[in-house]
Amino acid sequence: MKCRVCGQPANINLKAYNTALCAEDFISFLENRVLHTIKKYHLIEDGDIPVVAVSGGKDSLSLWHIMNKLGYGADGIYIHLGIGEYSDISLTKIQHMADTLKRKVYIFNVHDLFRKGIDELARAMRRPPCSACGMVKRYIMNRVCIDKGYTVLVTGHNIDDEASALFGNLLYWKREYLWKKNMVLHGIEGHLSKKVKPLFLCSEREMAAYAILCNIDYIYEECPFSVDAKSLVYKGMLNKLEELSPGTKIRFLKGYVKMVKEEVEERDYCAICGYPSYGGKCNFCRLLERFKIQGNIYFEEHGACNLDSPQRMVT
Ligand SMILES: [Zn+2]
Ligand SMILES: [Zn+2]
Repeated sequence: MKCRVCGQPANINLKAYNTALCAEDFISFLENRVLHTIKKYHLIEDGDIPVVAVSGGKDSLSLWHIMNKLGYGADGIYIHLGIGEYSDISLTKIQHMADTLKRKVYIFNVHDLFRKGIDELARAMRRPPCSACGMVKRYIMNRVCIDKGYTVLVTGHNIDDEASALFGNLLYWKREYLWKKNMVLHGIEGHLSKKVKPLFLCSEREMAAYAILCNIDYIYEECPFSVDAKSLVYKGMLNKLEELSPGTKIRFLKGYVKMVKEEVEERDYCAICGYPSYGGKCNFCRLLERFKIQGNIYFEEHGACNLDSPQRMVT
């Protein structure tokens, strides 16, 4: 097989695009794909100040690297969840990337605020760890954006994540969640930041190849709590369809983006922090209250996240 661009031996076969590319041309191809997605779907516009949610995995670290290479200077946010070695290793990889890119990374340490790791918090909340983690992450990332003046939160969800999640929502007709899978979610000034997913049309395999070819040092292990059996089954099924008919996943998501419309929800705002909530207080403020933690004092003192060097809160 030869590279479609330069005729040298190809390193990667991209059936969905009916093409094969050498390492160098694949790197340009993927970066252009991200740039094209950002421009075509207006993910980041003139005047926006983006910040990337980084986990230490291949997708978010590659995305951070690509954005800065494309000229979208972006800082990072990392939420240290206190999942033993996994969180510490992730942090090392992120700090390494921050040094390479010469960008700032906000580090929020769940343990510093709650004195508990996410697994203990989840148990106390009687929620599965992923649900507790999602709630805390969404809250803190939003808070960093609002308090630090970033206008758009950029996440590394790839086409496999999004296609399987959308498939799951369709299967159970979770109509109220359907539009939320879109690659742009608009914000509400002063309350909620805009969220975008520039890797929406890039696959897990492409991102792994990119990270390896660019020597991006990422954590290989998945989060020990992230083994969601259903989503793995959906991913497997979609991969089989993709094998039979290359390009299926791209068609599925592009079709969805064309059809779906953002729904305007009736919103209340948390009386304490202003985060969108249903009822008087948001889930995060309720959690703080439950553990008798004065979050407002913590955030006032440290900034929602002047968390480059997070400090232990005095209770
Ligand atoms: Zn080539
Ligand atoms: Zn609140």
